[in-house]
Amino acid sequence: MSELGHAQGIAERWARLRGEVDEVCRQAGRAPRDVRVVAVTKNHPADTVRAVAATGIVDVGENRAQELAGKAADCADLDLRWHFVGQLQTNKAAAVARHADTVHSVDRARLVGALAAAVSRQPARGPLSVLLQVNLDPDAVVGTLGPRGGCHPHDLAALADAVAAEAGLRLAGVMAVAPPPGAGVAPAAAFDRLNTLATRLRDRYPQATFVSAGMSDDWREAVLRGATHLRIGTALLGARPPIVG
Ligand SMILES: *Cc1c(COP(=O)(O)O)cnc(C)c1O
Repeated sequence: MSELGHAQGIAERWARLRGEVDEVCRQAGRAPRDVRVVAVTKNHPADTVRAVAATGIVDVGENRAQELAGKAADCADLDLRWHFVGQLQTNKAAAVARHADTVHSVDRARLVGALAAAVSRQPARGPLSVLLQVNLDPDAVVGTLGPRGGCHPHDLAALADAVAAEAGLRLAGVMAVAPPPGAGVAPAAAFDRLNTLATRLRDRYPQATFVSAGMSDDWREAVLRGATHLRIGTALLGARPPIVG
């Protein structure tokens, strides 16, 4: 497909998707402005990020540190807010802290320390917003999809305290990926659990208002259960190309 055709497809899918999100917000008695769509551009080239930005979307997500660094540099002229949504190794924390506004996938104390250290070495940047990723099916045997990341719900409070203790980090909320189809927990039940955990976290940290949940196939269930950030790839951009690089 031509670049122009692709950009037009993205604009059309965005208009439709945003309309549907607004409609589900109304069904749920929620204000549409309280639900943001993060366009997950992983595997897509920088031109696709430009097409996304042309629609007015400002929140863009990546799941690999190197790809984030490359595209953020390519698109530095655009006013985008980069979200890191993938599993993160501590040795990539500095690269992510350089480019990301928000990291959705913080799930262990070692990573909290690595991100805080990275931010302290980049005095030009403001605080890094951090979401704590929770595993909503922690008793499942790790299947062929591999671990999806996330802390055990029991460990959430201690992890929140660790983030809150770091001046360079801003505890912004929680994130989860629904368990895979066929798991013991359906997306709706998983997002109910996440909503309960998020509510409990806000009792202690009222500023932790973000609930990152819902992808192309399950965002409706997430909006009905309090999600504030939907991470959408395929439904906005079409099928993902194979991994580049
Ligand atoms: C790829 C990805 C998404 C987007 O997935 P789609 O099903 O294409 O919408 C959302 N969240 C995470 C963590 C991802 O890795």
